Amino acid sequence: MILGNFIGFARSARGTVTFSSSNSMDGIARSEIFCEATSEEVIEACERANQAFIEFSQLPNTSRGQFLRRIADLLQQQKENLEPIYCAESGLSPERFESELLRTLRQLYNFAELSESGAWRNASIDTSNPNQDPPKPDLRKMCIPIGPVVVFGASNFPLAYSTIGGDAAAALAVGCPVIIKAHPLHAATSDFVAALVVQAAEETGMPDGVFSHVHAKGFRVGTELVQHPFVKAVGFTGSLAGGRALFDLANNRTEPIPVFAEMGSVNPVFILPEFLQKEKENWVEMLANSMISGLGQFCTNPGLIFVIDNEVTDEFLQMLSSDFLSKVSTAMLHSSIKDRFDQGKLQMEIHGAEMHQSLGDMSDNVARQALGAIRAKQFIQNPKFQEEVFGPFTLIVRCSDMYDLASCVDVLNGQLTASILGSRDEIRFQNQLVIKLQNKVGRIIFNGVPTGVDIAPSMQHGGPYPASTDNRFGAVGIDSAQRFVRPVAYQNCPEDLLPEPLKNKNLFNIVRRVNGVFTADAINF
Ligand code: NAP
Repeated sequence: MILGNFIGFARSARGTVTFSSSNSMDGIARSEIFCEATSEEVIEACERANQAFIEFSQLPNTSRGQFLRRIADLLQQQKENLEPIYCAESGLSPERFESELLRTLRQLYNFAELSESGAWRNASIDTSNPNQDPPKPDLRKMCIPIGPVVVFGASNFPLAYSTIGGDAAAALAVGCPVIIKAHPLHAATSDFVAALVVQAAEETGMPDGVFSHVHAKGFRVGTELVQHPFVKAVGFTGSLAGGRALFDLANNRTEPIPVFAEMGSVNPVFILPEFLQKEKENWVEMLANSMISGLGQFCTNPGLIFVIDNEVTDEFLQMLSSDFLSKVSTAMLHSSIKDRFDQGKLQMEIHGAEMHQSLGDMSDNVARQALGAIRAKQFIQNPKFQEEVFGPFTLIVRCSDMYDLASCVDVLNGQLTASILGSRDEIRFQNQLVIKLQNKVGRIIFNGVPTGVDIAPSMQHGGPYPASTDNRFGAVGIDSAQRFVRPVAYQNCPEDLLPEPLKNKNLFNIVRRVNGVFTADAINF
């Protein structure tokens, strides 16, 4: 059976190019056949999104919330049918399915609440003062949705960062129609979820065009989407090469648009000597588990560990190496990702890293985890050692002393995270290290590992380039919706023409900044 795209609520398969995804473990092609979107279908998806935009953006807060909650209900109802497709295509375990689904549901509920609260409006009111010289006008400002958003599904999160993952839910919550470019490696999972989103949209009375879903294997469809004038922003999770190419494309448009790309990060871990002396036994397992978690196919995988050379460090590295390399490995997301992983390890070796590789399962798509070791001087001189090797690989950087380590930090690229493992006194003494790191990363973790990204509002998941293309924002938590809104100010606007969130009455009890004070009260001017 040929499965088409969703152009708005309708299935559409007008093209002649088809493809199938495959099962991760054995590489056997699946039975579903997907029809790549034609250029006409891409245009139609963008036009439908544009037509839906005004109505969708003007809906009462509660309607978009209902839509997102209904999607969550349907996902829950269908989880037994979804799980086998997800596990077969991605090679990820049923346990991972459960946790990723839970995360996806939580994200949907959190964004539903955000939508309903109106907090994302960032409403601000400065009342007039005719006695000021020159007279001060009445100024009221709030955020409005930016317009149709294109989201590229991520290969490593078939649910939580794909069809109705964080980026899509954030955009829909604030009134932006969404067009998904499904990731071809998990096209069947994506298609299954897309059908549920369309069902939820129809059942909750959303305008047709609020959600489209297009298939493709190759760059044409993504390129056309990013270039279409009705598209106003892009959400992306994937490779540095892909994110950068889309960013450049968007900036070369007649009307440039923001691309929020979350790309490579090697998430350095800095282990301080006093801590290691006291805690080495406790941390071997913790670190090794983080390194193997998700088979290293997480953007927060600890890809670099900095240590200070001494006997304790040697002992610790021995223990870490034997624990990590003896862990049971499984199939990677896809053979193409496994090939890149093997290439990445080879490059590290070619450039002079001393490599230690697991001798475990040699089956085709099973990753053989590896540790590399270099000296600080090599790290400082060769930028190759900062490249992400996506998968279970970690590079140890041996530093002679803290000055050596600080020099490594000086040349470090932008990262999503940095972790410091140190005793209380050591960390206090390393204040300068913390200050340096805060200018390099989006999140600093004290005595913890980078994997396991909580979706709380205070999470920051984004960092200076090349971790992300716009480090003022993040891709996790409700604040990520700020990527898809823009502020508009209304000057001396008559009360009855003002949008509801800015009216004196404050019908929806939104917290607003009124003359510099945050309050949910009505105003009387
Ligand atoms: P990718 O190659 O960047 O692709 C992601 C999506 O973007 C796919 O839909 C792809 O389309 C599209 N795309 C990529 N380059 C494009 C371009 N120049 N023009 C238009 N569309 C483009 O990432 P991936 O497939 O997820 O994984 C490949 C590698 O990316 C991994 O081996 C890993 O190194 C890295 N990665 C990193 C992270 C992270 O969190 N740091 C996450 C995932 C992947 P098509 O697939 O249809 O060609």
